[in-house]
Amino acid sequence: MTPARTRFAPSPTGSLHVGGARTALYCLLWARRTGGQFILRIEDTDRARSTDEAAAGIVRDMKWLGLQWDEGPEVGGASGPYYQSAKLDRYNAVIGQLLESGHAYEAWETSAELDALRKAAEAKKEAFKYRRRPYTEDDLAAFREEGRTPVVRLLAPTEAVTVDDILLGSVTLEPDQLDDIVIRKADGYPTYHLAVVVDDHDMGVTLVLRGQEHLMNTHKHKGIAAALGWELPQCGHLPLIHSPSGGKMSKRDKAKTARASARDEAKARGTGRDWSWITEATGFPPDEVELFMKKKRDGVALAESIAKVTGADLPLIDLLDFRRAGYLPEAMVNYLALLGWRAADETGEGDREIWPFEELCAAFEVTRIKSTPARFDPQKLAWMNGEYMKSLPDAVLRQRLAEHLEVTDSVLSRADDAMLSALFAMYRQRATTFVDLASQAAFFFDRPTSWGPPKALKKHLLKGGGLERLALTRAALADTEFTPQGISSCLDGLAEAHEQRVGRFAQPLRIAVSGGPVSPGIDDTLCLLGKDETLARIDACLAHFGPTE
Ligand code: GLU
Repeated sequence: MTPARTRFAPSPTGSLHVGGARTALYCLLWARRTGGQFILRIEDTDRARSTDEAAAGIVRDMKWLGLQWDEGPEVGGASGPYYQSAKLDRYNAVIGQLLESGHAYEAWETSAELDALRKAAEAKKEAFKYRRRPYTEDDLAAFREEGRTPVVRLLAPTEAVTVDDILLGSVTLEPDQLDDIVIRKADGYPTYHLAVVVDDHDMGVTLVLRGQEHLMNTHKHKGIAAALGWELPQCGHLPLIHSPSGGKMSKRDKAKTARASARDEAKARGTGRDWSWITEATGFPPDEVELFMKKKRDGVALAESIAKVTGADLPLIDLLDFRRAGYLPEAMVNYLALLGWRAADETGEGDREIWPFEELCAAFEVTRIKSTPARFDPQKLAWMNGEYMKSLPDAVLRQRLAEHLEVTDSVLSRADDAMLSALFAMYRQRATTFVDLASQAAFFFDRPTSWGPPKALKKHLLKGGGLERLALTRAALADTEFTPQGISSCLDGLAEAHEQRVGRFAQPLRIAVSGGPVSPGIDDTLCLLGKDETLARIDACLAHFGPTE
């Protein structure tokens, strides 16, 4: 197998989306499978939209997911720089070469003039394609006088261009479908198209995997490469990931969900279309809230703030959302690998769900990437995460929890090492995520101040002498050594002495200490709480429900 050089080339204009993460994963897996290299390149030539913060966020999220690149930011490499903004001299040299060879030329239209050309084409029911326009010496002098800066455009190929996609097959565009594309913008920066061709060439990339939205760009790239006498790497364009409700899985879904929850909240409050309560609760200015509620803006920050107020669960879209929601990178990698890739080979080998990273590296085959959209299935991901919660070594789970706690608040941050070990032992079989674990184990951190739910409370505690049995249990526990065996035999002894099932003593006790009828084994639960805390909780419960005499 020839070692592949693959790259993930995000534009740092936002956070790393789950679709981008899947693309990066497939690039990495192919490099590992073939014994090649995986490159991370930050495509930050769009100066208006790129931010350092977004670039740092992408690096952070890639690391969290464990998608370690062989060349790129932080690790360097022989074919850098890996930030395009640091490579302007090289792009300008290439653009200079294209100008000199006559493949490229300067174009001087303002955006208003381009709009007018576009409208004129539309009026004739033609698709607008920019073609080289003749300028006289006087035109040029006037443009300069006005202070215009030209862009540089590439002459479109005069023959049909065919892209052979390894997933989608051949796609041909005729010359009349091709434009004289801009390769250097008026701000002096190259366009994405120019930079991507130069970098894939300079970095020796052998296979480009990217989202299907770039398929038609590849014809442009082919035109640039041809003018330079280069070949493009092979390419494969990955289909979209659809949200569970259908349609593109996008940040907009967050705004949609937050908006719906705000409308429900407004109904409950009876505030109609007066959104001032959102401003009061979130601090976002009224006009911004207004635009958001009128669907004219989809700001994620506002959506998240609204969800905090309304208690809405926003859909998970970005990698950071999943990290905050307590998912494990191991499970994300496994889930994303299978979301869009057929694990089973021609013989049916590999038809299973659990695929640890190393096994993916050994088996990944680009030709089995699916060419139709996949639907994101949160239940399946949660199930898979639960499987990894069960099987990862303690030390890894601990490390993952630390990473989770770096990006979110959780009661689990209050647990010391010993407590964490105990919690993992009790909950790793029954929690799907760290957030789920935190919610199931919350009672260890804060004494219950209410006990329920009402039906269970009545059944186990308030009726049939539950409170009396709880008082007996308290007295017996006060003289018991707090080990799992000690507690078990204490409860067994009580059951025997009163000729009752153990549950008749354990269940009131469980409700008293945990606030509800579900917890891990009562012996382990009490041990972790400790004797003083257990007795104090029983006392608080007894005091709350009144004297038992
Ligand atoms: N920078 C492009 C983007 O983030 C990716 C381009 C590519 O992979 O060629 O959409």
